Amino acid sequence: MMGPSHALSGAAVWLSGSWALQHFYDYEQSPLALAVGTAVCAGGALLPDLDLSGKVTRNQGGATVARTFGVFSLFVAEVMEKVSLGVYYATKLSRDPKRSNGHRTLTHTIPFTVLVGWGTTTLCARYGKWAVIGILFFMIGLALRGLFDKWAERAGWLIVTLVSAGAAVFTAANLPGDRGYPMIGLAVGVGCFVHIIGDMITRAGVPILWPIPIKRRMWTPISLPDKIALRAGGKTEIVVVRTALTIVSVLATLGLFAPSVLQKFNLDL
Ligand SMILES: [Zn+2]
Repeated sequence: MMGPSHALSGAAVWLSGSWALQHFYDYEQSPLALAVGTAVCAGGALLPDLDLSGKVTRNQGGATVARTFGVFSLFVAEVMEKVSLGVYYATKLSRDPKRSNGHRTLTHTIPFTVLVGWGTTTLCARYGKWAVIGILFFMIGLALRGLFDKWAERAGWLIVTLVSAGAAVFTAANLPGDRGYPMIGLAVGVGCFVHIIGDMITRAGVPILWPIPIKRRMWTPISLPDKIALRAGGKTEIVVVRTALTIVSVLATLGLFAPSVLQKFNLDL
C-alpha cells in the first residue's frame, strides 16, 4: 500500500473504533482527544515504512514518509533500516534468504507494534508534557505527510515541520494528562498494526509471524494469494480502497458528533 492509503486506514480504524467505544461502552472522548488519537493513529500507520531510507548525503530517495522532516527523517530511516537489517541477520535461520537492506522486516512485526505502543505510553507517563510534545510533533508530521500528501509536497518539509510543532504544543497545553496520554501510545501501536495488515493485503509479504520459526525460516513473508491481493498503487487501491476508507471515516465522525449536536439543538429549542 502507498503512504496516503496507509495513513487513511489508520484514521478510519481509530475513528470507527472510537465510535464503537462510545456507542457500545459509553466511552466518551473530547473532540481534541479524538482529533489527536486520529492524527497519531494515521501517523503510526506510516511509521513502519520509516525503514526505507534513501541517500542521506545527497538528500534523495527514501519512502515519502522518510522525507517528512527533510534530511533529518531520512537519516532516522537510514538508522532504522540498518538496525532492522541487523536484527534480521541476528535472528535469521538457514532458509531465510540473504538481504541487502532491512525494509519490511523488523518494523513490520507484531513485537515492533507492541514495543512502540508500550514505549510511547511509558515515555508519556514518565516524562509528561515534554515527551507528549515530542511524540505528537513527530506523529502529526507523519500524519500530515500521509493524509495531505499533495499539500505536504507543495508546502515542503519546513512548513510541515512548523505546522506539526505548533499543533503539538497546542495539544500538549490542552490535553488532560489522565485520559489523553495513555491513548497516544495505543494510537501509535494500533496505527503500526493497521500498516502491517495493509501491506499484507497488497502483494507485499510481511513477516507477521516473527519470531515464530516455520520450516527453518524465521522471516516467513505472509500475504494474500496473488489472485485476490491488491496491487500496491493500483487503481483498486487508489480509487476503491481510499474512497471506502474516507466514507468509513466520515460516517464514524458523524456517528461520534451527531448525537451531541442534535441534543444541543433540541435543548436550545
Ligand atoms: Zn510497509
